[in-house]
Amino acid sequence: MIQKTLVLIKPDAVKRALVGDCIKRFENAGLKIIGMKMKWVNKDFARKHYSAHIEKPFFKSLSEYITLGPVVAIVLEGIESIELVRKIVGHTEPKQAHPGTIRGDYAHHTIAYTDKTGKSIMNLIHASGTAEEAEQEIKLWFTKEEIHDYKRSDHDFVL
Ligand code: AMP
Repeated sequence: MIQKTLVLIKPDAVKRALVGDCIKRFENAGLKIIGMKMKWVNKDFARKHYSAHIEKPFFKSLSEYITLGPVVAIVLEGIESIELVRKIVGHTEPKQAHPGTIRGDYAHHTIAYTDKTGKSIMNLIHASGTAEEAEQEIKLWFTKEEIHDYKRSDHDFVL
């Protein structure tokens, strides 16, 4: 099934100039960019995006992390794109992320360390986890006019 999913290239990845590398990996897999913008969100917006985590002990550090600097928000479209994007991104905890994934290649934080220090897990990317989450998140980050339904080329196997 063709799905849309939201990816955020988080402030640490933007600061480390990994934006191009991340986008390249999604495009290499055949995913189509149908929306993209740079946005520096505030704490109110962070609460909306991470509403499922508000009660979690790590919410404060998570909110600080996502508001550290601008993020690049992208809507990707492709067959089973939600699962595919999460596979390309790798495990939430960088320690467990395999080499070859974005987090496995560029991050190494552990939950044990962040629990002890109160710091946030710097894991470079956010990717929607379910179809419901993707729908809500895309609505939060993009207007209808910012999503572009176009045909990429005759070789566009997705459409
Ligand atoms: P998720 O909605 O699963 O992507 O989780 C949101 C974000 O919260 C993750 O990408 C991490 O940055 C952070 N996070 C998730 N679990 C933990 C945890 N146990 N400790 C600290 N931060 C976490």
